Amino acid sequence: MLKTDKTLDRLEIYRDRNTQVFLSKFLSGEISELEPVYDPKLGYRYPIVEAIVGDASSAETLLNRLYEAGILERRLYDKIIYCQKCGSANISVHYCCPYCKSFDIQKSALIEHVKCGYMDVEENFKKGNKLVCPKCHEELRKLDTDYRRAGTWCTCKDCSKSFDIPNVTHFCRACHTNFTFEEAVIKDVYAYSLKEEAKEEAAIGWVLIAPIRDFLIENGFEVESPAFLKGKSGANHMFDIVAHVEDAKHKITVIDIATSTENAVPEQPIIALFAKIFDVSPENAYLIAIPKMSENGKKMAELYNITLVEAKSQKEAIRALKEKMLKK
Ligand SMILES: [Zn+2]
Ligand SMILES: [Zn+2]
Ligand SMILES: [Zn+2]
Repeated sequence: MLKTDKTLDRLEIYRDRNTQVFLSKFLSGEISELEPVYDPKLGYRYPIVEAIVGDASSAETLLNRLYEAGILERRLYDKIIYCQKCGSANISVHYCCPYCKSFDIQKSALIEHVKCGYMDVEENFKKGNKLVCPKCHEELRKLDTDYRRAGTWCTCKDCSKSFDIPNVTHFCRACHTNFTFEEAVIKDVYAYSLKEEAKEEAAIGWVLIAPIRDFLIENGFEVESPAFLKGKSGANHMFDIVAHVEDAKHKITVIDIATSTENAVPEQPIIALFAKIFDVSPENAYLIAIPKMSENGKKMAELYNITLVEAKSQKEAIRALKEKMLKK
């Protein structure tokens, strides 16, 4: 794995139990994209995440953390309006008269009779089930042939004035406050999905590292993962797993894991591991290559005294590691 600061962040995050439970839903295919669910009182919520972490605000925190660490990607799903006074998301829209501010307005469709050019609101054309021109008394049958829709027209029931574009205001159904667009609190709401790069990383992060840790602990090792070791040069080096037997703290084993979604893992992880062990001088160094190591990498591993473990799956990795460790 590339050891950048962000990767380290993510490795820490993958070790969190709640994160594992949540991300496993993406990895298993149960969720491909997490969409928020609308709740009229609270706005949008993520019930699947809440079920794992306990409440809505912890769910937001987890999602933000995973997004910022580059594990999840997000897509703008909706914008939600909150009351600036009480914080409720139970908000309605009021279309108001621009003259007297009343929201008691009548919205009508404007219709134009193509033949004679007469334009009026739809109600004035209505005669039973038919539309008849009030000016020339001809019946309008076909939309876009006999007549056109020419937009909307509003009439205020309070001051009787007419206008085409109403003012928009908001009404909080919880505290009954009216507020304007300027006063509204508007929040972005996202749908989340697991980043392609994170899928592989997450799989290594615990699907692989966790059982290897368990295996080592069962066999009497003390394990740290990820772990930093200081080298002779004074530099700190990070390894996916560092283990030592309790009473032999100087006899350490370091393990790195490299995966390839293509055919074979290239030699770079071997070179990186060699540079670290050259400085740190562990007793044993292992590289677990999933699904296998390139030919060049195999030669280098032998040259550098790195024990190579090739495995197609987590089970195979543990079995192979066990075999190689017991031989020593
Ligand atoms: Zn309110
Ligand atoms: Zn009015
Ligand atoms: Zn007409």
